[in-house]
Amino acid sequence: MLAYNLEEVKNKISITAQNAGKSEKEITLIAVSKTKPVSMLQEVYDLGVRDFGENKVQEIMEKYALLPSDIRWHMIGHLQRNKVKYIIDKVSLIHSVDSLRLAEEIDKEAKKHQLIMPILIQVNIAEEESKFGLSSLEILEEIKKISRLSHIRVKGLMTVAPFVENGEDNRKYFKLIKQLSVDIMNENIDNVCMDIISMGMTGDYQTAIEEGSTMVRVGTAIFGERNYAK
Ligand SMILES: *Cc1c(COP(=O)(O)O)cnc(C)c1O
Repeated sequence: MLAYNLEEVKNKISITAQNAGKSEKEITLIAVSKTKPVSMLQEVYDLGVRDFGENKVQEIMEKYALLPSDIRWHMIGHLQRNKVKYIIDKVSLIHSVDSLRLAEEIDKEAKKHQLIMPILIQVNIAEEESKFGLSSLEILEEIKKISRLSHIRVKGLMTVAPFVENGEDNRKYFKLIKQLSVDIMNENIDNVCMDIISMGMTGDYQTAIEEGSTMVRVGTAIFGERNYAK
């Protein structure tokens, strides 16, 4: 089942990329494994996946201890400042930086561990009340401040688009993120590059790729529906 699902997602990524005139190699698939048991992650790992996305600090710590060390863990959920210390040496990319204060905390912990932490800036592109992220109006000023932190590297932008039945409905937001990333790149800020655009989930990853995503975060299409009740 997992093998079949994974193959389907990979095929769709590669066909979509080709049709959009891109190479599938430009797109990283992150298997979003939140709420799923370690045995399922191991199965997907054995099929060749190395990038896993989780949204809770506790869950990353537990899974990190039980799974192979060459996994690249992606923190994709809202991150509280007092929990940065638990994951700073475990994750390879933090997608969900949405304030200078959080960036400062990451910088402080990264310094302690003598590492430089790659981060993405989360944008609340549809200005939804319920979502985290900076608005497109405040982002440039925040990035300029964050860029001065010595143990952080801003690698790009991340967004969680609205939940929609039809992924096509999010195309306008993906276009806005792409444009924002080009605008920021053109500012030529030290320590800031816009190589990564993390956007697209099960319902809209193909549309996101067409509009310039370089990292898609896919959970349900690989692992099946999540059960939060248990
Ligand atoms: C859960 C989650 C995903 C994956 O969602 P699916 O619809 O299951 O693919 C992607 N990104 C973030 C930030 C998430 O929390």
